[in-house]
Amino acid sequence: MDGANEGHLDQAEEFMGQRQPVDAGRVAAALGGRSVVLVGMMGAGKTSVGKRLAAKLGVPFVDADAEIEAGAQLTISEIFERFGEHYFREGERKVIARLLNGGPLVLATGGGAFMNATTRDNIAARGVSIWLKPSFEVLLARVRKKSNRPLLKTADPEQTLRRLLEERTPTYALADFTIESLDGSHDAVVEAILRRLDAALDRDAGPVQEARRKVDVPLGGRAYSILIGPGVLGEAGDEIARIAPGVHCAIVTDARVAPLYLDRLRASLNQVGLRSTAIVCPPGEATKSYAEFARVCDALIEARIERRDVVIALGGGVIGDLAGFCAASVRRGVRLVQVPTTLLAQVDSSVGGKTGINSRHGKNLIGAFHQPSLVLADTLCLDTLGARDFRAGYAEVVKYGLIGDRNFFEFLESNWRGVFAGAPPRAEAIAVSCAAKARVVAADETEQGERALLNLGHTFGHALESLTGYDSARLVHGEGVAIGMVSAFHFSRDLGFCSGQDATRVEAHLKSVGLPTRMRDIPGFDASPEDVLAAMRQDKKVERGRLTFILARGIGESFVARDLEEANVSAFLARELALST
Ligand code: NAD
Repeated sequence: MDGANEGHLDQAEEFMGQRQPVDAGRVAAALGGRSVVLVGMMGAGKTSVGKRLAAKLGVPFVDADAEIEAGAQLTISEIFERFGEHYFREGERKVIARLLNGGPLVLATGGGAFMNATTRDNIAARGVSIWLKPSFEVLLARVRKKSNRPLLKTADPEQTLRRLLEERTPTYALADFTIESLDGSHDAVVEAILRRLDAALDRDAGPVQEARRKVDVPLGGRAYSILIGPGVLGEAGDEIARIAPGVHCAIVTDARVAPLYLDRLRASLNQVGLRSTAIVCPPGEATKSYAEFARVCDALIEARIERRDVVIALGGGVIGDLAGFCAASVRRGVRLVQVPTTLLAQVDSSVGGKTGINSRHGKNLIGAFHQPSLVLADTLCLDTLGARDFRAGYAEVVKYGLIGDRNFFEFLESNWRGVFAGAPPRAEAIAVSCAAKARVVAADETEQGERALLNLGHTFGHALESLTGYDSARLVHGEGVAIGMVSAFHFSRDLGFCSGQDATRVEAHLKSVGLPTRMRDIPGFDASPEDVLAAMRQDKKVERGRLTFILARGIGESFVARDLEEANVSAFLARELALST
């Protein structure tokens, strides 16, 4: 929602005494009954800042951890020791929901609380979230003073703190506001929060309308932001001019998306004086071809797009992959902005830099890594998307829960109707998915290891797409992924890795939203186990003849399984396909 560095500047000016203090009463009125929820690491100063902030706003202050300890008559450490972290997190979620229902208040949350998708959703519905982000040195100095942090009872607390911070940063960044502090001075932080709220809350319209989400992809010199929310498309001009002032923009789109969104995008660019040229491709997977690649590259050259200019991909994953590969190739690399308009593209293909086209030998076999400079995901664009395409994208959303976030899967089980209807859970689900993808991409940009987890369901899925001749009337990518994920869970169960209960639960959820879940659901599918195995061997995830699968020990616990015996795969496929006849 905001640039993290602005907090820094606010405080720097504050220290130099250049500004008048903010009228806290005006901020309290503008909050309109919403709570202010402080999130961030242990030692971020949430309690000290929270108490001061509450006093200024004239509302009660509550520390969620203290509330939990009082309720349980045990310290947090004792709860962890006796009942484990999962039990604690469940209790924490319920306590925070109860406190928010009784607001308005200033609420300090424990370091892990914001990791829970349901808690984030509750906070978004009833409050404004603020990530307190002091420097690592300040954090370390503070947590060293206290020995009662259960997660830091390790041999190397500094290393553990650093790892926790890295893991949690993309999720903390989902907060509405980020306040960085130079030295963590509590009063300066309180003033910076008030100033930020004062600037952001529309005093005429009341409290914040709908939170705009921002997810950062931390890739050093190639870092970029993903802006998510309703109406982001209309701000494309401002956002692009901010990172690339005065450039010429080449918009690559398809003939279905162009009549819906091209004019709006061009008008937004025009407003800030950015010139644009449009290149329109046919819709559909067949557009990821050598012929379209050559045509778009030539059109970019004819439009005199230079290295400092920008290619904008306006459309679904097909356009993102094709335009991205053209941007990577023309003049050895032109800047790319992704404006994804399908759910699949918003949560997956527009983030991470994989671009490419298909060869007659298989999907995505020709391509390059080319990170975008910016991603703009307008959640309103999804309102015009066909129901089947929305469902297909939803499979990729579920994937993030299945890979490593059981809480998120449970959030989806409870909130999927809101995601489909365009209610606040939609932006939440997209932001969580992007944060999950950003985390994996930052850890393993070029898929040497962990990034492979994102392929959960894809080895099966790609084989099925290939065997149905990429005929979208029979199967689209996300549907292949849905069947592939259910297959991966059933296969994991057969190999003894995961419980039948979890496999059934995954299948039931995907089925409840209307996705196909078994190979027998594909119309007219009559491939043999050997056909499927041969198609899998063709997939690029075959390494030196060995089949690599992403399997699961349970929901949220996926892992890379290399060197799988083909005999096991064949036996599983024979059982699955026997069900089809
Ligand atoms: P798509 O781009 O073909 O879009 C699906 C259909 O929806 C198209 O007909 C398109 O014209 C239409 N459409 C797009 N936005 C619309 C809107 N807002 N309203 C109405 N119609 C709209 O398909 P997709 O599902 O977005 O993407 C699939 C592709 O993404 C595949 O080629 C897959 O390989 C690729 N992919 C790439 C990555 C990556 O990391 N690069 C990841 C996953 C998938």
